[in-house]
Parts: sequence; C-alpha cells; structure tokens
Amino acid sequence: MKLLTVAEAADVARCHPETVAAALRAGKLHGHQTKKRAPWVTQKACVIAWRLGQKCSHD
Ligand SMILES: [Zn+2]
Repeated sequence: MKLLTVAEAADVARCHPETVAAALRAGKLHGHQTKKRAPWVTQKACVIAWRLGQKCSHD
C-alpha cells in the first residue's frame, strides 16, 4: 500500500495542503500518524473518497 504525505495528498486532491491537513485533523479524511505529532500519512483511495464526499472502504 502506498502512503501519501499531506503534500502528495493535496496534489492528488488538487487542493491546498492545509485543506488536507484540516480534514485529517477533523477526521473527515482517513489518515494516520506514526507517532504523536509525526507528519500525517494517508492513502490515495482515502483521498479520492474524501474528495468525492464518500467514505473510504476500509475504516
Ligand atoms: Zn481509508
């Protein structure tokens, strides 16, 4: 499985990285932090589902 950084996710979603970060923090976009305060990572399928207003299939 390929993990995306916030910057890469923003590129996939064609939106601003801060929009992605806010969605991750709000729990609207499915993602993970490897440690507390570590950078967020997410998956392409999750980013696409979020942009389409859908739930990703694996949470
Ligand atoms: Zn997901």
